[in-house]
Order: sequence, then structure tokens, then C-alpha cells
Amino acid sequence: MFLLVIFVFTVSVASAQYNNGIPVLLYHHVSQDKTDLPGLTVTPDEFSRQMTMLKQAGFETISPKTLIAYMRQEPVTLPPKPIMITFDDGYEDNYTEAFPILKQVGFSAVVFMTGVNVDREMRLSQKQIKEMSDNGIYFGGHSFTHRDLTTLKGKDLYREMEDVKKLIQWVTKKDVDVFAYPFGYFTLDAWEATEAAGYQAAFTVLPGLNKPEQDNEFLLRRIPIYNNTDFAVLFKLLDANRPKTKLLEYTPYYRNEQTAE
Ligand SMILES: [Zn+2]
Repeated sequence: MFLLVIFVFTVSVASAQYNNGIPVLLYHHVSQDKTDLPGLTVTPDEFSRQMTMLKQAGFETISPKTLIAYMRQEPVTLPPKPIMITFDDGYEDNYTEAFPILKQVGFSAVVFMTGVNVDREMRLSQKQIKEMSDNGIYFGGHSFTHRDLTTLKGKDLYREMEDVKKLIQWVTKKDVDVFAYPFGYFTLDAWEATEAAGYQAAFTVLPGLNKPEQDNEFLLRRIPIYNNTDFAVLFKLLDANRPKTKLLEYTPYYRNEQTAE
């Protein structure tokens, strides 16, 4: 009986560490070269520092399937400090710079790839996508052409979801379950098309943590990391698992004029 009490106490303390929900971080470029999207470029040293801080504090990355199960309130085993690392647009530096750092700290991540960018200059090639996919990196759809989905309807909208899903599934030989709306813009039509195309969940750029009953798995929240994000400030909020409203305290530490792509 005493042991049972200890067990129940331990489980409740452990689960309390993500009581306010699970954070999903959003990156774009990891590079020394800041000519493309300066506000959305984190240097490799800074990315390494951020991943190491999270690792040393006991954060563990979870898979899309685990996050989806948690959001659906299905039985799932979560680490005490779950987190998800994501990248939008599929830049080549995700392979050359971020991938080795993630491997070093033992983190997984999700790369949301735009269909037309596969094999383009400065973007991930099919070979790089396959290698990452075979080594702990998950891939999701980020539309086929990176158009603003709020301007599309019907078949045009559906094909943005379906074509990229088919392409990435063909390259990785794995199911693609997750989608990220380009620019974070979504409509009810876009949500419905994402679900109809067979995705299990979709990500926005609404900031905050993800918690079942408060959030929907087709409107998942992400915290964008900018070149001038004060990660120490954000880290303290993440480590304390502060609620959504408190997490917004980190917003003065990045430039408001920058919008996540
Ligand atoms: Zn994008």
C-alpha cells in the first residue's frame, strides 16, 4: 500500500510537468548566412546552445504520432518534459547544419516540406530527405506550392495538401501524417481539406502550448524562434511549463514585424 502511494505520487508529479500542455518550437534557417531570411535565421552555434539547454534540462522530443495521441487523449507514454522541434520550408541547412546537432543531442524533429522545393537549390534533395527520414527526422507537408491557402478553394486547395503528401511519402516510403499551413494562415476550408487528404494533425503559428480539450489537433500551436529571440527568457517559461498566457511574455523579445513563413 505504501509503495502504491509512492507510485501514484511519483506519477502525478511527473505528469504535472506538462500539465499546461506540450510546446512545439518552430525554426526555419539554421545558418551563418543571413542573406535569405535574416529574421528567421538562427546560427548553428545558437541552435546548438538552445538544443543543449533543452537536453540538459531533461526535455525529450516526441514523435508526431505521440503528440496526436496525447491531443486525442488516447493512452500514450510521455516523457516528463516532452517537446517537439519543427522546421518549415525544408532549407538545405536543416540537413547540413541542424541535423548533425540534433543527432549529437539525441533529438528528433519534424521538417515541413514544400512540394515544389524538393531538389531545388538551397532546399532539401530527395536523397537528403530520405537520409534524414531514415535517421529519426519526421517529414510533414507544407503545401505543394507554398501559396496562401486562404485564397484557395475546392480542388486547388485539396491538391496543395494531397500532392505534397504523395511526393514525400514516395521519397521517404513512410506515411505523412502532419501538415503545417504556409505562413500559418488557415481557414475552415483549409482545415477540412487537410483532414480530407488524410493528415492526422496540422500546425499553425498561434503561440502557446498544446493541451487536449483546449486545443484542436488541426490547429496546433507553435512557438517561432527568431534570430533575436532571447532563448534564456523563453527557456525559463518552457522549463516551468508556464501556461499559454504566461508564455506570451517571451513575445517582446522578438521583432513583431517578422512573420513566420
Ligand atoms: Zn513556409
